Amino acid sequence: LAEVREAADRAGRYFPLSLPSEGSCQIGGNLATNAGGVGVLAYGSARQLTLGLEVVLADGRVLSGLTALKKDNTGYDLRDLFIGSEGTLGVITAAVLKLFPKPREMATAFVALSELSGALALFNLAAERAGANLTAFEFMPRIALSFALAHIAGTRDPLPAAHPWYVLIETSSARADGSAERLLLTLLAAASSAGIIGDATLAHSLAQARDFWRLRDSFSAAQKGEGGSIKNDVSVPVAAIPAFVARADALIARLCPGARPLAFGHFGDGNVHYNISQPIGGDRAGFLARWEEVTGAINALVLQFGGSISAEHGIGQLKRAELIRAKAPLALEVMRAIKDALDPKGILNPGKVL
Ligand SMILES: Cc1cc2nc3c(=O)[nH]c(=O)nc-3n(C[C@H](O)[C@H](O)[C@H](O)COP(=O)(O)OP(=O)(O)OC[C@H]3O[C@@H](n4cnc5c(N)ncnc54)[C@H](O)[C@@H]3O)c2cc1C
Repeated sequence: LAEVREAADRAGRYFPLSLPSEGSCQIGGNLATNAGGVGVLAYGSARQLTLGLEVVLADGRVLSGLTALKKDNTGYDLRDLFIGSEGTLGVITAAVLKLFPKPREMATAFVALSELSGALALFNLAAERAGANLTAFEFMPRIALSFALAHIAGTRDPLPAAHPWYVLIETSSARADGSAERLLLTLLAAASSAGIIGDATLAHSLAQARDFWRLRDSFSAAQKGEGGSIKNDVSVPVAAIPAFVARADALIARLCPGARPLAFGHFGDGNVHYNISQPIGGDRAGFLARWEEVTGAINALVLQFGGSISAEHGIGQLKRAELIRAKAPLALEVMRAIKDALDPKGILNPGKVL
């Protein structure tokens, strides 16, 4: 993925898929998992960034679909069938990817909030004011920031005082005329007058913007320093995020007293990484042994909110049983029929997804 991003850059274009794993992950893997990341808000996930695919089928024949067409309504969409299928329907061997004009300017702010509901108000305001120029809107609680500050070398708190919640906002512009920063400043001024935000700081250099992103990208690594963690990658309707997080926190407090939830992620995509760190000084193995019970309870809550038990990390082997519980029986029947038709001997990634 890093090589594709660099090649696009050398050609004066932009490939917006960006993941913390971009130095190691492959385009085939990104497409097989329909990877998301921080650019989904403005550009969509891997699926929306792909025009054509070449796939080797289970019987060895090559399905060639390396088209660069934007419009093609000739029957079933075979490309979208393979994207996100986690290697269970065929092996992706080539792809035509969509490139975009390179943003000439980006402005980044780290914003403090007293309540998570403020993030919803701020997101609505940002979407209204910035439209397609709003290129990232990530949310995180104080505990995530404190884990990063404690365990990741070289990190520092962007704001002088601690606040319960934070949002990292990025605006972009195709023009190099200061418009991205002006847009962000106007937005922050409006949010401040409306009493939505507590404090905010704007990155004054590329290095400062990178520091903000480094904090955001380090939570998974930082959590390792706090013992075992049970992870959930879920989505709910954007407007329901604050209520979902409040209900999930109450659920965890009842189920595992002392456990420490970190709800962070891609607010604008409704994507919550609901990771729970073990209680301080608790038994790591005993906590992790409760993985299925805890994720099962969180997933049941997610379904009550009309959400999905896997927003961007897929099903793999870990969520197979949960998929069967969460998905409508008819949807599972259709998925199995597709699998049987394309891989009748079950040789492609057996034991994954279905
Ligand atoms: C540190 C880290 C951060 C991440 N952050 C994000 C994130 O923010 N957003 C997000 O969406 N995901 C994230 N991911 C997961 C992400 O989806 C994967 O890292 C990446 O997309 C998978 O690519 P890979 O080449 O590593 O695939 P692998 O992990 O090697 O494979 C993933 C699956 O796809 C199958 N597969 C691989 N290649 C092909 C192929 N050519 N054809 C068919 N099937 C294939 C494999 O069999 C496997 O089932 C993260 C992962 C890591 C490690």
